[in-house]
Amino acid sequence: MKKIIILGSTGSIGKQTLEILKRDKKNFKVILLSTDKNIKLIKKQIKIFKAKNIVVTNKEKYKILKKKLKKVNIFPDFTNLDKMIKGKADYAISAISGVKGLRPTINIIKKTKRIAIANKESIICGWELIQKELKKHKTEFIPVDSEHFSIWSVIHNYDKSEIEKIFLTASGGPFLNKKIKKKTKPKDAINHPNWEMGKKISIDSATLMNKIFEIIEAKKIFDIELNKFDILVHPKSYIHAIVKFKNGLIKIIAHDTDMKIPISNSIYLGDSNKNYVRTKKIDLKILNSLRLQKVNYKKFPVIGLLKKISNNNSLFDTVLVSVNDELVSQFLENKINFLDISSKISLLLDLPLFSKFKHQKPKNLAQIEKLNEFVRLKTRSLSVISQKK
Ligand code: NDP
Ligand code: MG
Repeated sequence: MKKIIILGSTGSIGKQTLEILKRDKKNFKVILLSTDKNIKLIKKQIKIFKAKNIVVTNKEKYKILKKKLKKVNIFPDFTNLDKMIKGKADYAISAISGVKGLRPTINIIKKTKRIAIANKESIICGWELIQKELKKHKTEFIPVDSEHFSIWSVIHNYDKSEIEKIFLTASGGPFLNKKIKKKTKPKDAINHPNWEMGKKISIDSATLMNKIFEIIEAKKIFDIELNKFDILVHPKSYIHAIVKFKNGLIKIIAHDTDMKIPISNSIYLGDSNKNYVRTKKIDLKILNSLRLQKVNYKKFPVIGLLKKISNNNSLFDTVLVSVNDELVSQFLENKINFLDISSKISLLLDLPLFSKFKHQKPKNLAQIEKLNEFVRLKTRSLSVISQKK
């Protein structure tokens, strides 16, 4: 029986992971689940999966659940892992959203034989720290962001000098063929045509910021220079990545628009009994109408940020994530409009206050977390000032 940990079990990725386990319950034992505040859902998950250890990070909700459930161990954070987990789990998935996911991800690495990371902010801001822990504890890593899982599946046994170019595909989000209006409402921006995801990543998909993040994520995971990556818009999201090798071969990785495919692959990898999720037959209609296009920089100006990113991993990667996080929150709270996200991010990143971090390497977790708080606070005050003008 495989022991499983899910960080962020009440989110889109967390729920899909549990759906996979539910079909094959006898082979899995869920030993740790976590939520920020959705105690209603986690109560249901505890009942179905008989999970004994639960982390609830929101203080109020933690107290409520702790009072209600006496037979389950409820924790307010991830510091007491030795109490929760005896020995090592077989598999953990990091699916908390945002920079808040970095600390739990780093902590959990020592407690699992394999970690699948969906939380791209962790990789972008803290890859060096994650890598160090992976090595130290001999934990296997599998990326589960769909593009990265696709790339990983074709290149992890290759010498990277054999790779000429890697294309990541972008669906183009809900506005690909629509005019982006100033008065765009959060609900319209969240309404992704192909994927059902958390709010934050859905907005990033609508601005295409998600692809900037994914290129940085890929650069770090695969240790490949930025100029080898490019983006292609592919509205059907059937192809996830294209890898061109120097030997002339081009590998195109396609699968249904279902995150359960990379997740279940990361769970069953190396097992003799693989209970994969059911997938559709190859769809010739889609294959005959792939329609790959170049990105329209005018419509999606955040793609221009690629010029501001360098091959050097620095604290500027955290600045980028944090400025965007804050602007997306402000848009969701109706404080700025949709177009402001792209215009403000570019202006803010050029401020010396932020650009100076291009020359600083991330040293430790506390420093990244502190920088995230600082950048969010500054972004909040600066974007409100420019809004009033
Ligand atoms: P969701 O917003 O749907 O879920 C996030 C999860 O994290 C929830 O369980 C949430 O709890 C928990 N959480 C939120 N804030 C905190 C916090 N401060 N401390 C502890 N836990 C917290 O996100 P997704 O599942 O969509 O995405 C998760 C990660 O995976 C993101 O980094 C995203 O970029 C990445 N990803 C997602 C994809 C997708 O298809 N959804 C695809 C590729 C990558 P609560 O329910 O209480 O809010
Ligand atoms: Mg992706």
